[in-house]
Amino acid sequence: MAACKSCGAAILWRRNPKTGRMAPIDAAASPRGNIGVDTESYALCNAAMGHVECAEHREHHTNHFATCKFANLHHRSRRGNG
Ligand SMILES: [Zn+2]
Ligand SMILES: [Zn+2]
Repeated sequence: MAACKSCGAAILWRRNPKTGRMAPIDAAASPRGNIGVDTESYALCNAAMGHVECAEHREHHTNHFATCKFANLHHRSRRGNG
């Protein structure tokens, strides 16, 4: 299993079937997740926001960029006075 280089969390790399881009998905399922994964790809799942049953996915995950504490290091643009 892959791990985030910033925080070490276990992640799954899955492809967006529409854009073809890979995204890091939290390996751990989350009750607030809105992403369903299969062996190669992921899909944003509208039914997964906690109040609607989803027939397609047994569990849902979160995009790791949304949960990684260090995600903002990748786009750091702070300019202070010192
Ligand atoms: Zn779902
Ligand atoms: Zn991370």
